[in-house]
Amino acid sequence: MSGMPVEQQVVARARKAFLTGRSKALSYRLSQLKGLRRLITEKQRDIADALRKDLHKSENATQLYEMIGLEGEIDLAVSHLSEWAAPRPVEQSLLTVADEVYIQPEPLGVVLIIGAWNYPWAVTVQPLIGAIAAGNAAVIKPSEVSSHTSKVMEELLPLYLDKELFPVVTGGVVQTQELLKQRFDHIFYTGNSTVGKVVMEAAARHLTPVTLELGGKSPCYIDKDCDLSVACRRITWGKYVNCGQTCIAPDYILCEPSIQDKVVKEIRKCIKEFYTDDPKTCPDYSRIVSLRHFRRIVALMEGSSVAIGGETDEAQCYIAPTVLTEVTSESKVMQEEIFGPLLPIIPISGTDEAIEFINKREKPLALYVFSSSDKMIKRMIADTSSGALLANDCLVHYTLSDLPFGGVGSSGMGHYHGRYTFDQLSHLRSCLIKKLRMERVNQVRYPPHTAQKLRWARLFLLKRVDVGQWRRAAQAVALVTLAAYVVQRFLQKS
Ligand code: NAD
Repeated sequence: MSGMPVEQQVVARARKAFLTGRSKALSYRLSQLKGLRRLITEKQRDIADALRKDLHKSENATQLYEMIGLEGEIDLAVSHLSEWAAPRPVEQSLLTVADEVYIQPEPLGVVLIIGAWNYPWAVTVQPLIGAIAAGNAAVIKPSEVSSHTSKVMEELLPLYLDKELFPVVTGGVVQTQELLKQRFDHIFYTGNSTVGKVVMEAAARHLTPVTLELGGKSPCYIDKDCDLSVACRRITWGKYVNCGQTCIAPDYILCEPSIQDKVVKEIRKCIKEFYTDDPKTCPDYSRIVSLRHFRRIVALMEGSSVAIGGETDEAQCYIAPTVLTEVTSESKVMQEEIFGPLLPIIPISGTDEAIEFINKREKPLALYVFSSSDKMIKRMIADTSSGALLANDCLVHYTLSDLPFGGVGSSGMGHYHGRYTFDQLSHLRSCLIKKLRMERVNQVRYPPHTAQKLRWARLFLLKRVDVGQWRRAAQAVALVTLAAYVVQRFLQKS
């Protein structure tokens, strides 16, 4: 392999390891998942230190926003693995009633996981959990932007996982592009949509399927008919956590002018409560990840009025929690995903205009609606589209493993979390095992194609049968018969 670029060598080794078949054994998958779980528990301090250096995250915030979720996902995969990986029976037609028909999930092969920097453990290791559970090999490429975390991952993962099956490749765009030249069986990318297109183009060369976890502008509509103090508290949390660098952070608020002042007042109160009078010295308030992003976000304030915050410090990449008013669709801050602690408020005349405003734009990753009217919430669900809709809160849908997480349209394709990650990184193989008996039944499909055969074929093909239910019923009958027999024998003897 000498002479090959390092990235090519790594992928070749991962493929060779996959072809040994060891990643397929359920016991091996479980041992790797448990290794990952141990890493998270035993190396908490190293993980937290790196995130503090990268994003000024406190240790408790790291636990709350990244590690607890990963622990839950690993535990779920460990406890459900045998069920997820088992053959899945399906309904059959009368034509196949005597046969074995099921879906067998099987590993795809070698998966490339490209992570982003904002929650670097969550977005990189969460797909890895599914890749391991599904029996794949995975090449892990953490983001170079969160460089301390990337280094820690490179050091720690090989201590707890099979390093041939799950190698870590660090580096920047050059290394990622070298990786993208290789053939993978799936690419799981988290990041911005511009690079998402680069990834998809590279994947197309090998016809490799992709999952793209992208971002965009997630709107937050506040209906005037709702408890504004609770709504603003939840919005303040969802917006300013991780300094606004959250893919599902509410990007902007839509509300009627009559409640705007109250919204600003409530958010100001919550900022003070969460981050004190001086967020810059508050350990729970993060920093912008890089100077490039700092300057980009500061420039977005241009042309809008600062109602709260607005203070910046380039030396620390600090931007205060900020609310912007006098914002229109044409304002700079409305031209791209903010991904920082600026919260513009856009006045609209009511629900109709909010729906129109949302539908005129790209489909968002998350849509937030605050209202005490169920009817209004259901209308929002019916009349808009987004990766997810969350009513009367922010972000927390991410924590539910049973809800598929992902975008739609320009906010992404594919979804994951819990069993969805397992399925996303598996091939759902259709298996039909016929017997060589009962050839008479097949006469209906062999020429000559008579009208009578067609009538039978219609019955055989269109009648759907839940064979599993039949089997369960037959087992129940057998059990009852056996019990009756035992009782009868017992009564005869006594
Ligand atoms: P980033 O800059 O770290 O890029 C992501 C990955 O792409 C990195 O690993 C990087 O090496 C690679 N990359 C960057 N430029 C490349 C290029 N030209 N060619 C090949 N690879 C390249 O992260 P980012 O894009 O700044 O992340 C922020 C974006 O990610 C936001 O849009 C956010 O909404 C989105 N995001 C989405 C989710 C989600 O789950 N949907 C989660 C987190 C972040």
